[in-house]
Amino acid sequence: MADLDSILRETFGFSGFRSVQRDVIDRVMAGAHSLAVMPTGAGKSLCYQIPALARPGTGLVISPLIALMHDQVRAAEAAGIKAATLTSADADWAATQDRFRAGDLDLLYVAPERASGDGFQAMLEATPLSLIAIDEAHCVSEWGHDFRPDYRLLRPMLDRFADVPRIALTATADRHTREDILAHLGIPDEGLIVAGFDRPNIRYIVQPRAGLPKQIKALTDEQPGAGIVYTTSRAAAEKLSAQIAATGRSARAYHAGLPAEERAANQAAFVASEDMVMCATIAFGMGIDKPDVRFVAHAGIPKSIEAYYQETGRAGRDGDPAEAHLFWGAEDFSRARRRIEEEVEPERRAGERTRLNALGGLVETATCRRAILLRHFGESPPERCGNCDNCLDPPKAVDATETARKFLSAVYRTGQRYGMGHVGDVLMGNTTERIEKLGHDRLSVFGIVDADEAPMIRPVSRALQTREALVQTDHGGLALGPAARAILKGEEEVALVLPPAKPARRRRNATP
Ligand code: ADP
Ligand code: ZN
Repeated sequence: MADLDSILRETFGFSGFRSVQRDVIDRVMAGAHSLAVMPTGAGKSLCYQIPALARPGTGLVISPLIALMHDQVRAAEAAGIKAATLTSADADWAATQDRFRAGDLDLLYVAPERASGDGFQAMLEATPLSLIAIDEAHCVSEWGHDFRPDYRLLRPMLDRFADVPRIALTATADRHTREDILAHLGIPDEGLIVAGFDRPNIRYIVQPRAGLPKQIKALTDEQPGAGIVYTTSRAAAEKLSAQIAATGRSARAYHAGLPAEERAANQAAFVASEDMVMCATIAFGMGIDKPDVRFVAHAGIPKSIEAYYQETGRAGRDGDPAEAHLFWGAEDFSRARRRIEEEVEPERRAGERTRLNALGGLVETATCRRAILLRHFGESPPERCGNCDNCLDPPKAVDATETARKFLSAVYRTGQRYGMGHVGDVLMGNTTERIEKLGHDRLSVFGIVDADEAPMIRPVSRALQTREALVQTDHGGLALGPAARAILKGEEEVALVLPPAKPARRRRNATP
């Protein structure tokens, strides 16, 4: 048997295996089926490339994107590996098929719909297969964020070659998605191998939005290094970059609406800079090689915990201290919920709701943020990390159940159509013109919140929206949501996290 270490050294020029690479490769070499869950950049490709070289036969790689396959083949060929693709974009089909039949390929990349075709499977019988790799394996799960029905058609093909070791790979898979992958691709539970997701040098800080430009300015004043601020719209990216530039700090914008040359120029300037703030939509970041990004900030909630991990992961890749800031608002959650109900296919809504609730749990928690993140990726981290806002400045958790019930009652009694301001005025007994006109001063909920309790109204309204006890109406008012009933009936408590007076960021990030 070929020596794995010498392949690693001689073909790839690396001196040692990283994280779980060796565990995954050993399983493939032994002919077993596996699922490798490894963060982006952890080196997933090597996990199938090396066994494909070490075992007799050709390795079949299933990949969802043609562009990705061509990149992989170029990289493999550069290392002296014999690789090819059979895609709709290739003109040299006959030649590639001949090479495959002659056993002259180490790796053959195809799309899932190709792999499941009868004619293609018949061709596969011609040469022994060393392994079948299924890249981006989360695509097989309807629960995942990127379901592709073609992945569901792979199983008969996999079973036709039941003796060939299969290796599924993904960077993003929560527990549910993982179970789906194992079940749909016929991989035993013990085949699951998860690499460490922790990024210990990243400090996680999450705060409610309260005057975003001021919050961003405080952050950039404090942080001299290069950073990325993710905004939720193109217009916001441009506005914010202008605001930051006006303070004298170098700043640029990046989004898909800019001309290609301007995008490329801004990206190049950012990569070369040591202090630039890039204000960008999530179009920015993929494939950008800048190890010394010192902070990543989100001006609104990301799409999911996976997206948050991926986007914040662009900070501190050099291993030096870095920060991840998330500024969130209740309306982010309301908007996301509305999007799910209006734009997502019905059968995928449950998954999307659960993903959003998991994100709500992350922003609302009084406990360690890192522990929540890592648990999400299936790890068993310590209770406290010592490098997130909640570990550094433990927030006070107060019981806000009573205030929450008062707020929900007031929303109900005013007809489920007014916003936080009006409902708060009713509760505090403010006789505004509107309240008098509507007769809301005659409601039983009028004036039931005293001055001591009043500061809780805004955070309570926010907390009720993140947990879907309140939802936003089309006109921006508040209505009761599905989680309201349990709170009103006294079956569920509402604990509220009061942010510390002094944000954790103000404490200097320890430099080694
Ligand atoms: P992933 O697919 O998990 O995002 P890749 O397979 O693209 O990651 O690998 C990321 C980078 O790490 C590549 O440049 C690869 O060459 C490099 N790499 C992978 N394994 C090792 C290793 N054992 N030692 C050094 N570099 C490695
Ligand atoms: Zn922590």
